[in-house]
Amino acid sequence: MVEDMVPGAYKDQFYLAKNTIYLDGNSLGLLAESAENKVLHTLQSEWKEDAIRSWNQSWYHLPERLAGKLAPIVGAKPNELLFCDNVSTNLFKLVAATLRHNPERKWIVTDDLNFPSDLYVMRGVIDLLGQHHAIEIVPSKDGIQIPTSFFEEALCGDTALLSLTHVSFKSGFMHDMKVITELAHRVGAFALWDLSHSTGAVPLRLNEWKVDMAVGCSYKYLNGGPGAPAFLYVREDLQESLSSPIRGWFGAKEPFAFHLDYTPAPGMKRFFSGTPPILPLNAIGANLDLINRAGMESIRKASLELSSHFIKRFQQELEPLDFKLATPIDPTCRGSHVSLQHKEAYAINRALIDPSDNGLSVIPDFRAPDNLRFGFAPLYNDIADIDQAIDRIVYLLSSGLIQAGTQRTGIVT
Ligand SMILES: *Cc1c(COP(=O)(O)O)cnc(C)c1O
Repeated sequence: MVEDMVPGAYKDQFYLAKNTIYLDGNSLGLLAESAENKVLHTLQSEWKEDAIRSWNQSWYHLPERLAGKLAPIVGAKPNELLFCDNVSTNLFKLVAATLRHNPERKWIVTDDLNFPSDLYVMRGVIDLLGQHHAIEIVPSKDGIQIPTSFFEEALCGDTALLSLTHVSFKSGFMHDMKVITELAHRVGAFALWDLSHSTGAVPLRLNEWKVDMAVGCSYKYLNGGPGAPAFLYVREDLQESLSSPIRGWFGAKEPFAFHLDYTPAPGMKRFFSGTPPILPLNAIGANLDLINRAGMESIRKASLELSSHFIKRFQQELEPLDFKLATPIDPTCRGSHVSLQHKEAYAINRALIDPSDNGLSVIPDFRAPDNLRFGFAPLYNDIADIDQAIDRIVYLLSSGLIQAGTQRTGIVT
């Protein structure tokens, strides 16, 4: 393990477009050469030549091998992790399983910094179970952060589940997972965390923090590629008491016995629905190796170097240009991206991505109504990326290349 990785130490192992500064690894991680090679091998040898024989040779046990590689990244045991489906589906499975396990308690506690999809899923489960439950959405005062004490007030003896996103998708605020999980346990509720913006960016200690359940995304800092399967975590001693509401054959005890009656597989496998997607799983595997080689502690150190440098230059040069910081300045409650608000955020985002002067392209992303998000992927972003991005923003604003009131084009922002 490398002791102190400099930011961007693995840059030469990723594909970066020419004349482009990529600061969107928090939304879609870049392709690594090792991931490409692994996927090409899967296509050209495993599928093209060995075809169905590959299920026995390597595919069937691939999700378990990947769980072993993810374990040190999230601080859990390999037998507590499973790659399958997407985050929304995995959340659905765990929320439904928890509420059915704990039917006498009414409330799900969450907050307004959560990813909207998570709220849609929770409401969907409540509807499906006959509306015997309800959601309490703890409000932030400023849309940026929420003090831990707010959850102490919201949790009660009638809370079934506390479900939060660890690092907020918009502001980059990071909750104190250990303390909030403890608060949930104090009232006898389960804690379920969405790790989509944390996995591969901040060190996680799911076992040490006594987290009950979690879900996470693999196309952000895990660089698994578009639509790569998500993962879920359930602590070992809870697995046997939860049952998945999606009872597919891959989650059954003996899928190839084709019994007409369903018996859940022991352990995490019960949370499989159907066949796992082998191509993107192989891309994830190559990236987990890279992350483990770098080590999560040094990734975090590099991430904070990047975001702190960005914030320092924001204060010097962007604050006077009417940008506002919409991310906590305290590094202990910050993930790996920084949001800036500006009334022309959308126009600035477009001008940065598609420059009309054939200059450098800088890729952040836009989150309505006025947020520009800058994601720092410590494996491939370095300090020079940040300096060039800030220089470019200052240049665009001073040279009149921003067209105020730019109309929205494209669906994905
Ligand atoms: C990206 C992201 C997801 C992704 O959800 P999918 O269902 O896999 O598309 C979920 N939650 C959060 C907090 C995210 O940032």
